[in-house]
Parts: sequence; C-alpha cells; structure tokens
Amino acid sequence: MIRVGVNGYGTIGKRVADGIRLQPDMQLIGVAKTRPNFEAETAAQKGYPLYSAIPERSHQFTEAGLDLHGEVTDLVDESDVIVDATPSGVGAENCSLYEAHDTPAILQGGESPDTVDESFVAQANYDDAVGADLLRVVSCNTTGLSRLLEPIDREYGVDKARATLIRRGGDPGETDRGPINDILPDPVTLPSHHGPDVQTIFPDVDIDTLGVTVPATLMHLHSVNLTLESAPSVAAIADLLSRQSRLFVVPPELSIDGTAKLKEFAKDAGRPRGDLWENCLWEESIAMEGNDLYLFQSIHQEANVVPENIDAIRALVGHKTAAESIALTNDRLGLNT
Ligand code: NAD
Repeated sequence: MIRVGVNGYGTIGKRVADGIRLQPDMQLIGVAKTRPNFEAETAAQKGYPLYSAIPERSHQFTEAGLDLHGEVTDLVDESDVIVDATPSGVGAENCSLYEAHDTPAILQGGESPDTVDESFVAQANYDDAVGADLLRVVSCNTTGLSRLLEPIDREYGVDKARATLIRRGGDPGETDRGPINDILPDPVTLPSHHGPDVQTIFPDVDIDTLGVTVPATLMHLHSVNLTLESAPSVAAIADLLSRQSRLFVVPPELSIDGTAKLKEFAKDAGRPRGDLWENCLWEESIAMEGNDLYLFQSIHQEANVVPENIDAIRALVGHKTAAESIALTNDRLGLNT
C-alpha cells in the first residue's frame, strides 16, 4: 500500500483525494486544510482524516466541531508520498517541508518547472519520473495538449504545432474571477506560457500557443492545428485518437455542440461532480488540408489532471509500469464509462 497525504484540499485536491481512495494499492492518510469550511466538513463526512495546514489555526477546527488528526508536518511524516494541491506558488514554498521529512511530493501546474525534478504527463514520460523526489503534474491545458500530441507525433510526426486556447475565466466556484463581460487576449503577446510548458514534456516539439480568456466556467476549448510529416486520412486520425484511453472522441450522433452539453452528459452518466477526466474532441472537427490537421478539443480543467496525479504517485515509488498504472487508474476512476 502506498500511503498518500493530500496537502491543499480545494478544486484539485479534493478530486485527487477521492481518486486515491478508489485505488487498491493506495491508502489516503489524510488531507490538510487551512481552515474549517464546507470542504473540510465534507472531507470529515467522507471519513478523511483532517490535518491542520496552519498550526495557529488548529483551534478553529475544534471550535467548528471537526476532529483534527494532527498538523501538516504529521501528515508529511506519516505519508510515503504527498500530493500538494495548494494554490500556485504555495507548493514551491512547501518543498522544504517535504525535503526535511524525506517525503517525495507531487506539485501542480501552477508551479514553475524549475522547482521540480520532472514535469509529468503519464502517457508521455512516466518512466522519467520513477524515483524522483519532486514531480509536477503539468497544468490542465498542458496535459490536454500533451495527451493529443503524443500519439500523433509518435504515429505521423509533428513538424509544427499551433493552438489557440479559449480559456474559462474561472472555475464554477471561483466567485472572484472574470471577465464577466469581455474577451481578453491573454496574454496579448505570443506565446502563451502553454507552448513552453508543453516543451517540458516534449522538448523537441515546435509549438506556438495563444490564449484568450472568456466569461465561461465549465471547460477550456482548444483550436488546434498540427502540421504533420505526412498526410494521413481523417479516418486514420480519428481511429488513432479513439484508441487513446484518455481521449474521448465525441461522435456526431450524441449531438453535443459544446462544453455545456459535454458537462451535462458527464452528469447524466453519473460521473462524480460531472467530471470529465479525458480530453473531449469533436470527431466532426477533425480535418486534413494537405499535411495540416485541424481539430477542436475541450478540457475540463477541474478534472483532467486527476488521473495524472494518481499515476504520478505510482511513478514516484516505481510501483507499476506506465501501462499498468494508467489501466488501473482508468479502471478505478471509471474513465471511458
Ligand atoms: P484551489 O484554490 O481550489 O485549492 C487550493 C486549496 O489549498 C484551497 O483549499 C486553499 O485553502 C488551500 N491552501 C492555501 N494555502 C495552503 C497552505 N499553505 N497549505 C495547505 N493548503 C493551502 O486551487 P486549485 O484550483 O485546486 O489549484 C491548485 C493547483 O492546481 C494550482 O497549482 C493550480 O495551478 C493547479 N491546477 C488548477 C486547475 C484548475 O483549473 N482549478 C487545473 C489544473 C491545475
């Protein structure tokens, strides 16, 4: 059993904790929270041991009627691996704590790649992560682009990748984000940080990315153009992509015209929180013009890095091969169902 602690129990942390609980080879030691709020309450209801991330605030948990199992240092001590899902920048500050306890840790995409030994996408570089001390599961957009690039580059060779990322203004629970009535070039200069971030996974891929932020919360949408070394048919591309376990090629028969219906589909299917762990790419959007491939894909930013975090835990302890870990994670989460 791999004993895992989750430090930072927000959008990503609570989903990763639920995912860990479903794995047969992992034990969730507990979750560290900064304060008692609705997420602390539901964590306690689920039976997740609570740890105080800020010792001076420990009394607030007891005052709110929540039992504490200890402080974050205890969680780090008791865990074989820590998943740090704290806000951008906090993860880097926490690294000295993990190093002091000799506990390997997984940071998230908001951290700089320079902070860690490896940036991680399971299907691309699992083996490089084995035995590392610090890993970074790259951001939702970088994960989404990497999952798409990997099979296409392997099969057909990508000469040049270009992607425009239409980014959600904030997650559904983020009341302080925006814009609420605008369309922002974000950033206005080329490139957005996503292209260089993809190169932490695929150093040799030539990629330019642009970002636009819009008043939406559900998902991101990528408009992708890949110049390939050959000119496969649309059917061959669709077939290749539909065989990738973390890509969902949306068939036209489902009449899903955008991100709202994708999320509705996930909720109707009984997915927890309506989560879409896979890239969702529209089969009808796949087009070839000469050697140029075009398509649209959507990324559920709150969910798509969850399977990568689970695989990253196994990679850190060298517990299974990439293929074994991906298959087990998919099976236990319920991907492709
Ligand atoms: P979030 O704000 O929803 O959750 C972060 C949690 O950490 C909150 O509960 C916060 O109270 C807690 N926290 C703050 N300081 C802490 C500390 N010192 N110790 C322990 N906990 C602390 O943030 P999020 O969206 O889950 O993002 C977490 C990381 O994941 C970031 O690096 C982000 O860039 C990355 N990420 C976010 C998304 C997304 O769309 N939400 C997608 C992919 C990656």
